[in-house]
Amino acid sequence: MSILIKGGTIITAADTYAADVLIENEKISQIGTDLAREGAQVVDAGGKLLLPGGIDVHTHLSLPFFSTISSDDFYTGHKAAAFGGTTSHIDFATQRKGETLKIALDRWLKKAEGKAVIDHAVHMSITDLRPDILDEIPSMLDAGVTSIKLFMSYVNVYMLDDGDIFKIMEKAAELGMVVLMHAENGYVIDSLIKQNVAAGNLATEFHAKSHPAWAETEATLRAVALAGITGASLYVVHMTCEEVVDQLRYGRERGLPVMGETCPQYLFFTEDELRRPDGAKWVFSPPLRTKKDNDYLWRALAEGHLQSVGTDHCPFLFDGTKPLMYEGEPYQMPGKEMGAGDFSKIPNGTHGIEDRMLMLWSYGVRQGRLSPNRFVEVTATNPAKIFGMYPKKGTIAAGSDADIVIWDPEATKTVSWKTHHSRTDFNIYEGTELVGLPEKVYVRGTLLVDGEEWYGKPGSGRYLHRTPFAPII
Ligand SMILES: [Zn+2]
Repeated sequence: MSILIKGGTIITAADTYAADVLIENEKISQIGTDLAREGAQVVDAGGKLLLPGGIDVHTHLSLPFFSTISSDDFYTGHKAAAFGGTTSHIDFATQRKGETLKIALDRWLKKAEGKAVIDHAVHMSITDLRPDILDEIPSMLDAGVTSIKLFMSYVNVYMLDDGDIFKIMEKAAELGMVVLMHAENGYVIDSLIKQNVAAGNLATEFHAKSHPAWAETEATLRAVALAGITGASLYVVHMTCEEVVDQLRYGRERGLPVMGETCPQYLFFTEDELRRPDGAKWVFSPPLRTKKDNDYLWRALAEGHLQSVGTDHCPFLFDGTKPLMYEGEPYQMPGKEMGAGDFSKIPNGTHGIEDRMLMLWSYGVRQGRLSPNRFVEVTATNPAKIFGMYPKKGTIAAGSDADIVIWDPEATKTVSWKTHHSRTDFNIYEGTELVGLPEKVYVRGTLLVDGEEWYGKPGSGRYLHRTPFAPII
């Protein structure tokens, strides 16, 4: 069936213009004025904006962490994403010690089976580099995996030493793969956590004190330098503050292939949240910083020093001792209460996949910090380009997948965990007023969201096979 969206204003990273959009066979087949097509379903978008579906390249659905698991799976997380205007995402397949990459990848792809509603891909997290793993990396390209995630932090869990990171980056450069880096100095953090626990400094705020900005700054410059030596494309995830972004800028000014992401939580909150009685909701790594850094990150996004906004979506229940009702079913899983009385036992992570576009529009675009075009660029176009999905994803153009959000710039809503779609019993933006919301959300021409109505069918989301040698933005 074809769909003709009439009367809307298209916003891409580069342009703003009024035009009709014809969708046929899952793709945008024509864009123009006064389009007509016999038999097409006509959708009136008068007074509305047409945005490319958002792409969140940093999510952790069903991620095992400590002795629990993140509370959104590939169905609930996808439903939340769609209600927030996001139609594609990239999750992380994490290699366990002793395992091959293929086993890790297959395990992750199984999590999406029968559940996925939006389109999805995976980055490969390498945590155990053996000679056979180095040889296995090229086979990831056959599976459409063009990006590798590495950790400079989480000693004895995910962290690799600089020698292993260097070898993987050399390989990534040769194969045209992107390396995503969690850049924090793991040894420093490990020592500080142990010191604080031993000294009885167990309050939630010691999470931030154990992850100082200098540990992130040092690791970021180290990652940038390794990109300079190896020539590998580097994408530094979840950048939190001015001195960290300065290191990225240092590399970019010297022409190095390095790019960076921040996440909404770092734009809106400071470490003061950790002193609240419910501060565990804001425990994630790296931690929150200062108001000065919030302001700096907004400017860095607007001025092009940061290229993308991901979310690090990784929610846990705040009170896992009680079941949470989701679509009429009780859901219960240990959550943030595991760390009551000891910050080092709080599962690290919070939600964001539904909130990202909503918060960035209301407080970025509407408050004049980002143009609508820059909003599209950092939430969809750049993520698609950097990770080898463009122009299939990330724009509104003839031939692209029909991932379209009809955005009502005047619609309003108050954020609440009671009405959001993520499977969590809290929302860090609780009570925030939003102006500008998705009205209809299409993935490949299929309507998933219409106002408050949900039409998503589990199993309809598709795996995205990506291509290497993506551009440096
Ligand atoms: Zn993450």
